[in-house]
Amino acid sequence: MDDIDILKKKLRTPHNVLILAHRNPDGDAIGSVVALKLFLEQCGQDVKVLLPSEYPSVFQYLPSLEDIIIYDLSREKGRKSLRAAELIFCLDFNSLDRVDPLAMEITKSSAYKVLIDHHLDPEPFADWYLSDTNSSSTCELIYRFIEAWGATEKINIEIATCLFTGILTDTGSFKYATNPEVYRIAAELKRIGVDDYAINDYIFNSWTKRQMTILGHALRNRLEVIPEHHAGIITLTQQDYQKYQIARGDTEGLVNYILMIKGIKLAAFIRQMTNGEIRLSLRSKGDISVQHLARDHFSGGGHKNAAGGSSQLPLAETIEKFKNVLPQYI
Ligand code: 5GP
Ligand code: MN
Repeated sequence: MDDIDILKKKLRTPHNVLILAHRNPDGDAIGSVVALKLFLEQCGQDVKVLLPSEYPSVFQYLPSLEDIIIYDLSREKGRKSLRAAELIFCLDFNSLDRVDPLAMEITKSSAYKVLIDHHLDPEPFADWYLSDTNSSSTCELIYRFIEAWGATEKINIEIATCLFTGILTDTGSFKYATNPEVYRIAAELKRIGVDDYAINDYIFNSWTKRQMTILGHALRNRLEVIPEHHAGIITLTQQDYQKYQIARGDTEGLVNYILMIKGIKLAAFIRQMTNGEIRLSLRSKGDISVQHLARDHFSGGGHKNAAGGSSQLPLAETIEKFKNVLPQYI
């Protein structure tokens, strides 16, 4: 963590602060931006939140979502908030291609840029860094940020709910990317009064019957296991997306089912979505780095055991390419 006193000094008087997270925000992205917003507002700052695209509706229970600006839906308002910003906080991403099409505006902006993130290979576009690839989540880092600020008393139930959400989702319910700190922080959040049962219920028991059907179809008809490489692939075609009317959030967590098969160490969910875009979600166990695989072959990145990327090739060729490069990473 860079010197927190630099930021405290800058924010001694009110400023226009903008908080940004990555496209297709997950629980950690939305949780961390709202938590930081609520904290900085308590510090007397004028804070706006800008997201490149919409957040999943399961996170509706979070506080203070009303005035979030979604760039895809309100471009002019988004651009205006960027131009007015004196400080920009970039949360849960470390490369500007994750906030496309805002990347150009951010580069041009003369605002002081703060990056708080836990992904590998940070790009050098910010002025102040809290980048820790050993932390479970950006929400864990926001807690540590507020702690370093010397203001844990400002963590109220709303902020705690946001932070617990990001920790819960980015650790897959405390299954991976954990460390002693994350359990300590979770305990503190529980002490503050976080309703962990309710948060779990909101996030994980919110499926529609249609989502169950999609899961059934994916597991029954679209799963391929490659035992010799300890790998499994689920593929969904553009026709699947149309037939089952699959929206983005509907396939959240699908890739993790593959890792439930004994002996599987690398899982891939490869899909061509309704808009034609081809994306990959990759997961692995132990020392196998899907971050390298995504970075080297699919213009992506992420973490060692959870990464994502995209492909410009047709779906069949994308799968072929994935199978060809796979053995190098096992
Ligand atoms: P998911 O498969 O859940 O979309 O993403 C898994 C992880 O990989 C997340 O931490 C996410 O931030 C990262 N990730 C997903 N897609 C991309 C991408 O296109 N580029 C980079 N750099 N990281 C990605
Ligand atoms: Mn995260």
